[in-house]
Amino acid sequence: MAIYNPKSLKADEFINHEEILATLEYAEANKNNIALIDEILEKARPKKNGNGLICGGLTHREASVLLACDIPEKNEEIYRIAEEIKLAFYGNRIVMFAPLYLSNYCVNGCVYCPYHYKNKHITRKKLTQEEVRAEVIALQDMGHKRLAIEAGEDPVNNPLEYILECIKTIYSIKHKNGAIRRVNVNIAATTVENYRKLKEAGIGTYILFQETYHKESYLELHPTGPKHDYDYHTEAMDRAMEGGIDDVGLGVLFGLEKYRYEFAGLIMHAEHLEAVHGVGPHTISVPRIKRADDIDPDVFDNSIPDEMFEKIIACIRLAVPYTGMIISTRENEEVRGRALRLGISQISGGSRTSVGGYTEEERPHDSEQFDVSDQRTLDEVVKWLMEKGHIPSFCTACYREGRTGDRFMALCKNGQILNCCHPNALMTLTEYLTDYASEETKKIGYELVENELQKIPGEKIKKIATENIKAIKESNGRDFRF
Ligand code: SAM
Repeated sequence: MAIYNPKSLKADEFINHEEILATLEYAEANKNNIALIDEILEKARPKKNGNGLICGGLTHREASVLLACDIPEKNEEIYRIAEEIKLAFYGNRIVMFAPLYLSNYCVNGCVYCPYHYKNKHITRKKLTQEEVRAEVIALQDMGHKRLAIEAGEDPVNNPLEYILECIKTIYSIKHKNGAIRRVNVNIAATTVENYRKLKEAGIGTYILFQETYHKESYLELHPTGPKHDYDYHTEAMDRAMEGGIDDVGLGVLFGLEKYRYEFAGLIMHAEHLEAVHGVGPHTISVPRIKRADDIDPDVFDNSIPDEMFEKIIACIRLAVPYTGMIISTRENEEVRGRALRLGISQISGGSRTSVGGYTEEERPHDSEQFDVSDQRTLDEVVKWLMEKGHIPSFCTACYREGRTGDRFMALCKNGQILNCCHPNALMTLTEYLTDYASEETKKIGYELVENELQKIPGEKIKKIATENIKAIKESNGRDFRF
């Protein structure tokens, strides 16, 4: 039997089944233990530290107690602290991105994904470099600056060389006033050597969803193909970090297994990365299974109701306060709206999950990965965010300034992120408004930017930001590259 060891590089030692079971037992036994819950909440609460704020974060056991807790007043307190942390460290900024599907060829047999190799009626597509160009131009015309590229796993049709070629093409496109400034990558687990090549290609975050941390279920849900290898998949982030990628993004596909098990596994994975590499995950995504071509989500009997989904988000926020959290268009406007308050820092907008979808007039379904619930345009999402008091940000500065991995985390932990990110968010939002927004969105946005500028504490930074924003509006199109 494997022994739990967060510093081990072996999957069954850092995601240890027995430790997860013991955690769930501990959480169940303490879910009404008010003294313990209060102690955990106190630890999670942001505290003053010199001029800034710090946050304790929680262990997987502590966070699991909060997730299990069913005392209404304590749950309200969890939501309040989640909001407090979100505002203290991320402010009201929400980073915008879009997925770009390169290829849906796949040799795996994942039973929840319509790209599984047995699906013979889904249209298989792989973008040529010309098509990548056309898709990226369509995304730039919407105003996107940050993409997450997605592909199935197929060493013949989508080898790493293909992915690298696409990244090169994407970064090379200068169209009107824009350019894609950060390409995040969501492709199957690979070798250290390949991760090194991705790093050299200038990727942002390497994202890989664990799908489920429950090994037995994982093996059943991934019956064939390279993805069947649970250990290789679970140890991928360590290889990515060994290959020099210091921003990695975790996630589980909620609905496959019991959510409390997944939650404990996810936090243990974050603890492991911190223990071994000195830096936790850059982001955590919270996808839920969706209906897709030959996939009926009702077949999976671990689906979670919206209220529990929101509680999971709040508990992740308390456990890993410095990790960005991503919610995609798998969720509808209502759920996204509530989740934003509880700690989400990045959302997609105007997404299409089909290969070549952005160049089509209508949302195509033939090569789609899953049904998109939030079908609004980017402009509609941006306007909605601003009306709800958020600042949509198109900033990618940290990544280009080398503020990745522990350097980004240090900034975040010192509360300094507010001094850097707030003005950058306002400048990039102004770029978006000037170049891409509808008249109505522009009006709301310019007003918001003016108000938010006044909130910048440092006079020098305020002056620079004000001058830049004026220049962006007047230049009508200079690429400021924030
Ligand atoms: N092929 C890559 C891999 O193996 O990790 C990842 C790319 S895949 C395009 C991105 C993610 O979509 C998967 O990791 C999975 O969690 C999610 N996904 C697959 N089928 C889904 C479904 N029916 N509903 C929602 N999300 C799904």
